[in-house]
Amino acid sequence: MQSTKKLYNVVINYNYCKRCGICSWICPVKAIVEGEFDIPQISDPLKCTGCLQCERMCPDFAIDVRLVE
Ligand code: SF4
Ligand code: SF4
Repeated sequence: MQSTKKLYNVVINYNYCKRCGICSWICPVKAIVEGEFDIPQISDPLKCTGCLQCERMCPDFAIDVRLVE
């Protein structure tokens, strides 16, 4: 049986990221967490629901969330 869960690819552009912590704070499922030196990390891409809150709230436009085809 084919899964109906949608998969999202969450990419953080570390050239733009200022390590403000907003994305890990706002992600409702903790798909993004704050790692060492306040660097945001994708903890588990399968958790991402595609809500886009991280992408919208990042002040440096450093996050790109895309539906995996
Ligand atoms: S919200 Fe943007 S700038 Fe802030 S830690 Fe996340 S990716 Fe970096
Ligand atoms: S799109 Fe939503 S669920 Fe996915 S990483 Fe961003 S805030 Fe978390």
